[in-house]
Amino acid sequence: MQEEIIQAEKMKVVSEIAASVAHEVRNPLTSVRGFIQLLSNPALSEHKRKEFSAITLEELDRAESIISDYLSLAKPQIERFESICLDEALSKAAQILSSYANMQNVEIITNIKHPATVYGSKSKFRQAIINIGKNAIEAMPAGGKLSLSYTVNEPNNNVIISISDTGIGMNEEQLNRLGAPYYTTKDKGTGLGTMVIFSVIRGMNGKIEVLSKEGAGTTYLITLPLNEQA
Ligand code: ADP
Ligand code: MG
Repeated sequence: MQEEIIQAEKMKVVSEIAASVAHEVRNPLTSVRGFIQLLSNPALSEHKRKEFSAITLEELDRAESIISDYLSLAKPQIERFESICLDEALSKAAQILSSYANMQNVEIITNIKHPATVYGSKSKFRQAIINIGKNAIEAMPAGGKLSLSYTVNEPNNNVIISISDTGIGMNEEQLNRLGAPYYTTKDKGTGLGTMVIFSVIRGMNGKIEVLSKEGAGTTYLITLPLNEQA
């Protein structure tokens, strides 16, 4: 019975997400279509042609970010729960984020001492960490530090992952809105990244606490149960 309720809840989340992705991707696609039509006009000036091409590319990039922010959740059929080595998962996420971090002058510091395993979908978990890291990097336009670490809490049978940045931080109101679909403060934001983060961690029976101070930075604290079989 409990299983059925969980399954139904998952299906509900999945269908809500699918509807959001479809809706959000359609907007940039419609606009790309319009600009391609304009571009086919032979009388178009070189200046306009350049401008429209640039917008078309930007819109396609936007569609791309919507899809990648959602990636693992948009593919529920391949979801498989397994044992996840935290050191491996975090190093891999750090590696994927490294070129983006470089571009923004952000130094990634990983401090991973003890081996620990948790239980969940590897790809979804990685996506959640990448989404947190991406937001952290984007919060440091003038460069800074992104630190990833975790501590194992044996007595409580859990692990606390900490992901912190030295970026612009958030105020009380922003913190409260974090995780709501389409909430974004960025020109080209999707407002979907944190929704995915919360949903993935919830799906792993974890919990998230976000500490932030304007002008100082943000720390995500993720508590996850240790994988008992490991
Ligand atoms: P997006 O990144 O597309 O804006 P997200 O759901 O990933 O959407 O994030 C929502 C909003 O939360 C961001 O626009 C930003 O205002 C805020 N935010 C998330 N993480 C951080 C962070 N580490 N530092 C500052 N603000 C953040
Ligand atoms: Mg984001």
